[in-house]
Amino acid sequence: MLPKIRVHFGDTETDPALGAMSAVAPDDAGRYGEDTLLRLVADSVPALIAYYEPQTLRCVFANKAYAEANGWTVDSIIGKTVREAIGEEAWHIIEPQVERVLKGEKVEYTRPLMLPNGEQRIVEVHLIPHFDERSQMLGAFVLITDITRHHRAEQEIRDSEERMRKFAAATNEGIFFHKDGILTDVNDALLAIGGYKREEVIGHALWEFVPGEWHQTMSDYMREGREDTFEAEVVHKNGHRIAVELVGKTIVLRGEAHRLGALRDITARRHAEARIQYLAHHDMLTGLPNRAYLTERLTTILALARRHGTLVAIMFIDLDNFKTVNDSLGHHVGDVLLKQVAGRIKEVLREADMVSRLGGDEFLVILADFAASEDAAKVAEKLLQVISAPIELEGRELCANASIGISVFPRDGDNADDLIRNADAAMYSAKDHGRGHSRFYTAGLSDEGAATLARESRLRQAVQRGEFVVFYQPQLRVSDLRLAGIEALVRWRHPERGLIDPSEFIEFAETRGLIDEIGQYVLREACRQNKAWQDAGHAALPISVNVSAVQFRRGDLVAAVKRVLDDTGLEGRYLDLELTESLLMDKDIVGNALAGLRALGVRITIDDFGTGYSSLGYLKRYPIDKLKIDRSFIDDLGTDADERAIAVAIINLAKTLKLTPLAEGVERQEQLEFLREHGCDEFQGYLAGSPVAAEDFSAFSRG
Ligand code: C2E
Ligand code: MG
Ligand code: MG
Repeated sequence: MLPKIRVHFGDTETDPALGAMSAVAPDDAGRYGEDTLLRLVADSVPALIAYYEPQTLRCVFANKAYAEANGWTVDSIIGKTVREAIGEEAWHIIEPQVERVLKGEKVEYTRPLMLPNGEQRIVEVHLIPHFDERSQMLGAFVLITDITRHHRAEQEIRDSEERMRKFAAATNEGIFFHKDGILTDVNDALLAIGGYKREEVIGHALWEFVPGEWHQTMSDYMREGREDTFEAEVVHKNGHRIAVELVGKTIVLRGEAHRLGALRDITARRHAEARIQYLAHHDMLTGLPNRAYLTERLTTILALARRHGTLVAIMFIDLDNFKTVNDSLGHHVGDVLLKQVAGRIKEVLREADMVSRLGGDEFLVILADFAASEDAAKVAEKLLQVISAPIELEGRELCANASIGISVFPRDGDNADDLIRNADAAMYSAKDHGRGHSRFYTAGLSDEGAATLARESRLRQAVQRGEFVVFYQPQLRVSDLRLAGIEALVRWRHPERGLIDPSEFIEFAETRGLIDEIGQYVLREACRQNKAWQDAGHAALPISVNVSAVQFRRGDLVAAVKRVLDDTGLEGRYLDLELTESLLMDKDIVGNALAGLRALGVRITIDDFGTGYSSLGYLKRYPIDKLKIDRSFIDDLGTDADERAIAVAIINLAKTLKLTPLAEGVERQEQLEFLREHGCDEFQGYLAGSPVAAEDFSAFSRG
């Protein structure tokens, strides 16, 4: 459809029709003459009109607009040749057209037209030959219309289409045009995203490429002409879905409303989002849900249980010896252990249950939907069992024991926080009452946090007040029962509770940073006592002092030992330090410290041998003197063939490595007989004498 164009040549404010009207007036009767009427019409139409005579090409008629456009008046243009009328330059352009019309052709062309005021217009020119009845050419009409605006609009569309094509080609966004849902054009990026060829798309319905459940959303956006971004999916040629971000725009092309859509593949972003979501909710090491996620889920689970009147158990699991593993064998080993434990816990649980890692060596289990507390206890028992089963690791066997605290909804709390806190309190209580157990929460347990603090400050006080004493237990030679050494064992002489065994406070002291002071005291006191015994004329024997891994790791142990030896005057060879196996795994600490101690003449014993993380390499590598066979192997010597075999193996191992084997916890004569039979060098235990205060120590009489 052509635009309606009003021609305003020259003065664009003045309507040429009105201008012409004022020059042509009716007669007194109000009638126009024929010529007058012709002129009125000619001057009123929005076009340039002229009539030329064919032989001479002189102007016979021109309307006002035509004359003025060429710089003439209606009168002065008459009789001018075309060439004179339109000027040299224009003549040049149109001469061929003029020749065509003179041959009787209807000619139509567009050309630029320069107005007398310098304005450039684009005009459409019709040259129409005029014949009489005998086909004699009488003249030629010239009809010129101004199509400048129309022309510009077309040019603009061409330009903008060109621009659009360039944009579309330059972007990675898929761009498509559609008219009422039928695709009319797409860019290469869109084809690349969807894996289609152009001909598989153009002319097809948009909906073929959109999964059904997105049809509604998309058609809503289209119908409402929305131009905001939304997310949806499209179907790749190979069938899989692609997450996309889409924006639609309504644009008018050649007078018709089209929809332009731009889409971007957001699969990578979706993956990243999912990953972030996962990270926010999971523990990276074990892949288990983390605390945040668990609390969220627990709240939901509790709401359901409340509605259905069911029970929910919360189990707080803490590994007993994880810190030792981590510190002595390294984080790498600790990590593997945690992963294994996580896997084992999961195996015990059912679909409806949930386990999460709270951090460190703490796990939390939610048992949903069970009938009675005993059921929870059974699950806890099962968990303890699977967790403590030995774990093979780089040729070593590790054991992870756990303590479990249990709280039950609704009895022990009605919200996630309370239930977790109470399970935590129950777990601490389980630890305090001998590890490797589970315990239910009972009212009053939550005061245990406060109790722990009180306990710590009480222990600190005991250090300051000097409430610790050292007991001594004899170590005898198996062959002739003569005194071979003495072990120093600490006791807490509590003003109200009386003597307290180290098993009740050593570990606690280790975790609270109090072991150094206690250890220092025992070391100094044991050395002083040993020197005093020597000075009193008793046989010069080594005194064994237990050293905690924490003290060892402090790094200044060698210096501390040297100071004590210097201060007390005891020779280094009369001091024997007892370490546990796990400590030896930490090569850096041990290498230096053991060498330093050896330089002082101090002896080294491995305590509780056989219970730790046995790698035998270090027995050869380090300057070790004695192996203490753990009491647990000695206990069952009479009854258990396996234990017997282990005890014998340790004795032989020690002998092979030229170490002195010593059996701990020997209480009965037949145990001693067994040891003698198998060549164990030394023993210690109630059979030889219990630990006693220095003034009660009478074993020297055996010397
Ligand atoms: P340990 O070094 O293996 O000490 C042997 C433990 O066995 C001692 O327990 C001792 O009283 C006990 N015992 C000795 N003979 C027998 C027996 O015939 N039968 C039985 N059933 N037990 C026997 P105690 O004194 O309660 O010490 C426990 C643990 O506390 C020690 O085990 C040691 O690891 C630690 N400990 C003791 N004193 C110290 C100390 O000064 N510093 C450090 N770091 N740890 C210490
Ligand atoms: Mg010991
Ligand atoms: Mg021991």
